[in-house]
Amino acid sequence: MQNKLWDVAIIGGGPAGYSAALYCVRAGYSTLVIEMLSAGGQMATTSAIENYPGFVESVDGFELAMTMQKQAEKFGSETLYAQVTSVSLADFIKTLETTEGPVQAKTVILATGADPRPLGLPEENALRGRGVGYCATCDGGFYRGKTVAVVGGGNSAAEDALTLSKLCKQVYLIHRRDHLSATRSYLAPLEKADNITFVWNKEVTELLHEEKLNGLTLTDTITKEQSHLDVDGLFVAIGRLPNTWLVKDQLALDPQGYIIADETTRTSLPGVFAIGDVRQKPLRQVVTAVADGATASKFVEEYLNLAE
Ligand SMILES: Cc1cc2nc3c(=O)[nH]c(=O)nc-3n(C[C@H](O)[C@H](O)[C@H](O)COP(=O)(O)OP(=O)(O)OC[C@H]3O[C@@H](n4cnc5c(N)ncnc54)[C@H](O)[C@@H]3O)c2cc1C
Repeated sequence: MQNKLWDVAIIGGGPAGYSAALYCVRAGYSTLVIEMLSAGGQMATTSAIENYPGFVESVDGFELAMTMQKQAEKFGSETLYAQVTSVSLADFIKTLETTEGPVQAKTVILATGADPRPLGLPEENALRGRGVGYCATCDGGFYRGKTVAVVGGGNSAAEDALTLSKLCKQVYLIHRRDHLSATRSYLAPLEKADNITFVWNKEVTELLHEEKLNGLTLTDTITKEQSHLDVDGLFVAIGRLPNTWLVKDQLALDPQGYIIADETTRTSLPGVFAIGDVRQKPLRQVVTAVADGATASKFVEEYLNLAE
């Protein structure tokens, strides 16, 4: 794998990466996916995806990931299990240093994803999927008719609260300040929703649970007084961390650190493409990630036709 000049090297084996691999390999390009863990990325961490078209019952994210990988490999795409540790993208032949040795390719597709920023509380990770969530669009349906809280004060938190207010009995929007930083257009709908309650000047300092989350300890940011809130679910919306440290000095990024690439998935460097959650975009979901993968193959083809 390392002694070959690949047409396409894809960094990241999540849904975006394997969709790109499927389309590129079927277009006749030698294609390598480099993945540091196992296929599926964030998608593989959820056991029930209800909003990916084509599945009437929910689909297990890990199983869907295995199927996506198998489908791409059926047509000849290969996978190198390694972490990419540095990249050199400016020349026609691009070099990726990995924990398994260097890889060279004519085009590189970045599909390294983004991780939700955690609160950093003890047991937060263990309660993921058992009351603690990071995506209301993905998991809100599991809390129909229940009481939930959203923590955060920006646009994501505002959007999550509105999404959940249509499904849940009661939504608490917890913020450590006394006003939101979300854009003004969110304020009127938030105030209009009669099942959204603002909880100002509070931080979530403890996750209460038996098998699942059942409550929160809140600490007042001014008086330091503690209080208790019963909830069935908590959605953490305090930002995301795009995995762009590899390319931060080589590609144009937006102020939040996402790679700037429009619907063509082309980045600021020729022959380098960005797809899925790592790209600046309005909705980060499996369906938009796989769509990006397909689109990238079209522009890889266009680039290679002109360059060769
Ligand atoms: C808990 C949870 C539940 C979700 N539920 C849903 C849902 O129900 N419906 C929905 O549509 N979406 C859901 N999402 C969102 C969805 O999973 C993401 O939008 C999607 O996975 C993004 O795909 P991606 O391929 O862009 O990135 P990712 O899935 O993040 O994959 C990126 C991959 O790149 C690899 N990688 C990163 N850096 C390197 C490196 N340096 N070297 C090698 N490999 C690297 C990572 O290991 C990872 O496998 C959920 C997300 C989470 C966290």
